[in-house]
Amino acid sequence: MDYDFLVIGAGIAGAAAAFELSERAPGARIAVVEREDTPGYHATGRSAALFVETYGGPLVRALVRGSRSFLETPPAGFAEYPLLSPRGVLHFAREGQRQRAEQLFADCRNLTRDLRLVEGGEITDLQPALRSGYAVCAVHEPHAMDIDVGALHQGFLRGFKASGGRLITGAGVNAIERPGERWRIQTTAGPLTAGAIVNAAGAWADEIAEAAGIAPLGLVPKRRTVITFDPPGDSPGTPPGGMAVAGWPMTIDVDESVSFKPEAGRILASPCDETPMPPSDAQPDEWDVAVAVERLREATTLTVERIAHKWAGLRSFLADKLPAVGPDTAEPTFFWLAGQGGYGIKTSPALGRLAAALLTGAEVPADLADLGVTAAALGPGRFSRASSHARASSHASASSHESVTRT
Ligand SMILES: Cc1cc2nc3c(=O)[nH]c(=O)nc-3n(C[C@H](O)[C@H](O)[C@H](O)COP(=O)(O)OP(=O)(O)OC[C@H]3O[C@@H](n4cnc5c(N)ncnc54)[C@H](O)[C@@H]3O)c2cc1C
Repeated sequence: MDYDFLVIGAGIAGAAAAFELSERAPGARIAVVEREDTPGYHATGRSAALFVETYGGPLVRALVRGSRSFLETPPAGFAEYPLLSPRGVLHFAREGQRQRAEQLFADCRNLTRDLRLVEGGEITDLQPALRSGYAVCAVHEPHAMDIDVGALHQGFLRGFKASGGRLITGAGVNAIERPGERWRIQTTAGPLTAGAIVNAAGAWADEIAEAAGIAPLGLVPKRRTVITFDPPGDSPGTPPGGMAVAGWPMTIDVDESVSFKPEAGRILASPCDETPMPPSDAQPDEWDVAVAVERLREATTLTVERIAHKWAGLRSFLADKLPAVGPDTAEPTFFWLAGQGGYGIKTSPALGRLAAALLTGAEVPADLADLGVTAAALGPGRFSRASSHARASSHASASSHESVTRT
C-alpha cells in the first residue's frame, strides 16, 4: 500500500499526530504502523497520568498550557467521560531544599492559578501521610489533574480511523530505504511505501532514524519504576487514622527522589529513578522497588505491606530535555516526533497539533506561538549530530534483538 504519511509508533505521540493530521489534511492517505498488537504497550501505558503545569522547563510548560483546552474540552464525541479529574500536586522541600521550592514558586506563580507556597501544619493538612516536620515548605498546585490516558489515546486513534486513517498493529518496521522519491518500508506485516515518514517510535526513534540513513539525535531512554500498594488501614482506601486517600494530591519532593499519589483505591509510588538503558520492554528492578519502599518509609507514615503491582517504563530524553518536532535537516520527508521524556501525555494535544501543522507546510499554530513555541526551538536542527551519533549507536547495538536495520 502507498501512503502520503506513514507514522511509525502508535503510542500517544503517533496517535495524536495522526489524529491532528487527519483533521488538517482530509483526503491524505495516512497510516500508523505499530510493532505491538496493543497500541500503548510501552511508555504511554506506563505513566503516572498527571497533568501538571509546574513540572518541566519553560517550553514544556508552554506545551502543557497549549494542551489544556483540548484536554478540558475535547471535540464532540472524542471521549465518553471527562479526560481530566482533580488531583493537585504538592512539591515538598526539606530544610536544605527550601531555596529550590522558593525558586519553583517564583518561576511558576504566574503560570497557573492559585499556586501557593505553604509551610508548617498546612503541609500535613494537604498531605496527612507526610511525617510531621519532615517538610519545611511546599509548593501546592491545586489545579493539577489526573489524565484518563486510555481515553485520550483511544480518542486520538478512534478519531483518526473515523477520518479514513489506517492503524496497522503487529507491524514492526524492520527496514527502511528511499531509492527514489518515496520511502519503502518493510514491516513484519508486509511492505509499504510513503511520501513522508513521521518518526514517533518513542525510545526507538534513533534506531528508526539510523535504519533510514538519518543521523540520530542522541536520545537516551531512562527507566522509571512504579509500585502500587494498598493503603494500610481497616478498609481499602483508608490509612491509619481513618483518612481517605482518594483526595490526596500527587506528592513529590522538589529534587524528585520520591513521589506518591492515590490510584484507584491504592497508592502509586515511584523512587523517580532515571536509569539510562537501551530501548526495550523495560521491567522493574528489585533495587529500585526497594528504594521506593525505603524513601516512602522515611518521608511518610505509610508502610508497604504488600506490593500489588510494579512496572517500569522508559522516559526518553534528548540532551536539552525538550522534544524534537520537525523535519530532519538533511531529509525533510523524515519528520521527528520524539524525546517527550516525562511529559509526553500532558503535552500530546499541543505536540500533535504542532506536528500536523508543520507536516502540512503551515506555521506554528497561533496559540502555541503566543506561548513562545517556535519551530526552531523544537526542531531537530538544534542538535549537532556528530556528537550524538556514538551514544545512540551503542544503544542500537545493545538492543539488536529489537532493532531495525538499514537496507
Ligand atoms: C513511569 C512513567 C511516568 C510518567 N508519567 C507521566 C505523566 O505523569 N505525565 C506525562 O505527561 N507523561 C508521563 N510520562 C511520559 C510519557 O509516558 C511519555 O512521554 C509518552 O508516553 C511517550 O509517548 P510515545 O508515543 O513517544 O512513546 P511510546 O508510548 O513508547 O510509543 C512508541 C511506540 O513506537 C512503537 N515502535 C517502536 N519501534 C517500532 C518499530 N520498529 N516498528 C513499529 N513500531 C515501533 C513502540 O512499540 C511503541 O508503541 C511517564 C513515563 C513513565 C515511564
